[in-house]
Amino acid sequence: MKYEVDKKGFYGEFGGAYIPEAMYPNIEELKNRYLDIMSGSSFQKEFQDLLRDYVGRPSPLYYARRLSEHYGGRIYLKREDLNHTGSHKVNNTIGQILIAKRLRKTRIIAETGAGQHGVATATVCALMGLKCVVYMGAVDVARQAPNVLRMKMLGAEVIPVESGNKTLKDATNGALRDWINNPLDTHYIIGSVVGPHPYPDMVARLQSVISEEIKWQLMEHEGRENPDYVLACVGGGSNAAGVFYHFLDNPEVKLIGTEAAGLGVDTHETAATLATGSPGVLHSCRTMLMQNEDGQITEPYSISAGLDYPGIGPLHSQLFKSGRAKYESITDQEALDAAFKLTRLEGIIPALESAHAFALLEKMKFQENDVVVINVSGRGDKDMQTYIDVMQKNKMD
Ligand SMILES: *Cc1c(COP(=O)(O)O)cnc(C)c1O
Repeated sequence: MKYEVDKKGFYGEFGGAYIPEAMYPNIEELKNRYLDIMSGSSFQKEFQDLLRDYVGRPSPLYYARRLSEHYGGRIYLKREDLNHTGSHKVNNTIGQILIAKRLRKTRIIAETGAGQHGVATATVCALMGLKCVVYMGAVDVARQAPNVLRMKMLGAEVIPVESGNKTLKDATNGALRDWINNPLDTHYIIGSVVGPHPYPDMVARLQSVISEEIKWQLMEHEGRENPDYVLACVGGGSNAAGVFYHFLDNPEVKLIGTEAAGLGVDTHETAATLATGSPGVLHSCRTMLMQNEDGQITEPYSISAGLDYPGIGPLHSQLFKSGRAKYESITDQEALDAAFKLTRLEGIIPALESAHAFALLEKMKFQENDVVVINVSGRGDKDMQTYIDVMQKNKMD
């Protein structure tokens, strides 16, 4: 595959493993074992069985008739919102906990921002009976109370991180530090296609089940495997990596990711990494970052907590640089409008993150026979308070 990671963990100039020496044993073990484990028949059987019976896969590929009439083209929705725990994140946590078991790890750590990845990790730890510790910025602990309670109910220990801005970046630093101190019994489940090699590749492979299913589902619907367009929102980039993966070597498929512009890419209140960033190293990986002239990471902002990350996975940096995929920025307001439009046209309340992909429809022009796939990365339950505030402000009912 042309866009595959190389032996050293690079996608072109991006990727790698810029790790402190103390983390070397953990990363080496994972790097040396992950491909063998994942291609083994015992892993494959357990992974496929859990995806089917526990997660509820395959997720439907739904032809959205009213949305298609409104925007033109033939628009299909990949329904990751219907997965157990409400988003694509569980595809990754199921896969990684099965890898952790085969590495004989007994303790799992994770970072979380909004709490979605923390909940998905706590869920699979309960399922497998493994100890779970989730690092979360203290600011996020305070503003994401329902997910904190979910993690606790699932048996996880939630550790508030008081350093830095007390959000996702700091939670990731907390988890990395824990891993250095607990190299023998602990596996770190990273929640996106970020961090040191082999995480970006491992997580992309686990999420690639999304595009694997789309290929045969589109064949059933349309008599062809490849759509004309694939749209997905991008935070760290795992749902987009999963939905792009099996189309990367089909150049006729146009791949478009949407970043969160926040209040706008020309303001400081943004999380649009590719639109505003430059190359650097964050969380042991060389990639595009939001940083100032001194190389200090700048604080990202988006209405959607899941897109509020100052970096992006190295695969996306490379797809951006090579032009294989395009990336557009969507503001808070555009995403909110798109969430209400999708809800009223199709009866599907999306996660605010996913709404960033739908907002792009307003800026596209499709031919009648264009086949368009949009990834619905998650459902909107967690965002109801934000939606309710909008309705009250606009006096909608
Ligand atoms: C976490 C999350 C995202 C962003 O993460 P990616 O790694 O970019 O996919 C998007 N949508 C939902 C619903 C999420 O929970």
